[in-house]
Amino acid sequence: MVTRLNVPGPEAQALLKRDKPLVSPSYPRDYGFVMSHGRNSEVWDVDGNRFVDFAAGIAVTATGHSHPEVVKAIQEQAEKFIHISSDYYHEPFVRICEQLNEIRPMQEELMVFLCNSGTEAVESALKLARYHTGRQYYIGFFGGFHGRTMGAISFTASKVSQRAKFAPYLPGVVHVPFADPYRPLFTFDPARGQDYGDAVVDYIEKVLFKTILPANEVAAVLLEPIQGEGGYVVPAPHFLPRLRKMCDDHGILLIADEVQAGVGRTGKWWSIEHFGVEPDIIASAKGIASGMPFGAMMARKSVMTWKPGAHGNTYGGNPLGCVAASATLRLIKGGFLANAAAQGDYVMQRLAEMQARHPSIGEVRGRGLMIGIEFVADRATREPSATVRDALVHHAFEHGLLLLGCGTSVVRIAPPLSIERKTVDEGLEIFDYCLTLAEQELGMVAVPVLEQVPA
Ligand code: PLP
Repeated sequence: MVTRLNVPGPEAQALLKRDKPLVSPSYPRDYGFVMSHGRNSEVWDVDGNRFVDFAAGIAVTATGHSHPEVVKAIQEQAEKFIHISSDYYHEPFVRICEQLNEIRPMQEELMVFLCNSGTEAVESALKLARYHTGRQYYIGFFGGFHGRTMGAISFTASKVSQRAKFAPYLPGVVHVPFADPYRPLFTFDPARGQDYGDAVVDYIEKVLFKTILPANEVAAVLLEPIQGEGGYVVPAPHFLPRLRKMCDDHGILLIADEVQAGVGRTGKWWSIEHFGVEPDIIASAKGIASGMPFGAMMARKSVMTWKPGAHGNTYGGNPLGCVAASATLRLIKGGFLANAAAQGDYVMQRLAEMQARHPSIGEVRGRGLMIGIEFVADRATREPSATVRDALVHHAFEHGLLLLGCGTSVVRIAPPLSIERKTVDEGLEIFDYCLTLAEQELGMVAVPVLEQVPA
């Protein structure tokens, strides 16, 4: 039974009132969820309302909210020491690097640079690529999101509002369409067996490399193997293998930004593994430490050639972050990786059933628990409908389900990797109900108004 909540309630509203005059208005907040506490994939607000969490922060709390083993690891470490800078040594630092090396998606062993966020992991990767190759250009992709510091924002290309008024950006970044087969920018003919990934890489090789971009001056290609903020987009099958070959042909490094898609979210440790391709450098954060601010930049040993002093930080490898990350990787290996794959398959199947009933669902796509639902005004034209998406997200909040949008008209399903089947079912029931409400309001379906059950 889906229940309508009275949200935001009085306690939440009081907090929102205190927040407004003081907190930077740049945070993109869609609705007033004010958290009190959480357990696995359930969260409660300050008025005692319970929600199913299909967002996990922004695809962060991989092991669920406050997993007891993660909490215990942080508590025990906090009693010993909270900080010693990365100029010194400690065991949790080395341990997490060893664990990351064990799950690397490349044959060659890797080396690790620890930091505090996704954007820093990306910055580190960009700097290493220039340092190692001695080259200055990069290739990035439309729809990509890599963070908001000046280097990362120079690649980020998912919403113009994220870039407006911040130019000039890092010079030398050339953007190319991502191989999104649902919304291709180049022509290709799937009926004749053509793959959109080939069309995109052909454009780089046959147009860019022959006109404005000398291939032997390109340091790196930076991409999310499955795009996150840009709309949970799974690229065409040939895309990554062709990019890998292109990089090999020209001595270019391939950087996989796995900040959102990595650490088990897609049912494999790293999303690039779905495409049978090895990266040279990986940027990771978000799920890696279950919500502690933590990031890692990992590179093949033969690529991490910089010298002492070339790059560093104060907080990288923070002991609390290291032990949280160690516990997180242990838990993912111990079952949540398999759970993400299994629950993800189930959600995809349930959404395919819903697509048959809901005319606004244009496409359902994803891997593991990184699932995007693209909403359209008309399936034939694929005209995006942010209106349906936004209405769904708001109704979901009012009925006890946390959802986040991405792309132009996409909702992401990115719960903790530890989510249980009964919570998945509960969330999907609310999703289905709220989508019906949204479609009715917008005149897309002519069925009787659903019964509303007040809390
Ligand atoms: N890269 C990707 C793929 C992301 O999704 C994000 C954040 O959403 C970032 C980088 C930036 O991470 P952070 O917000 O931790 O700086």
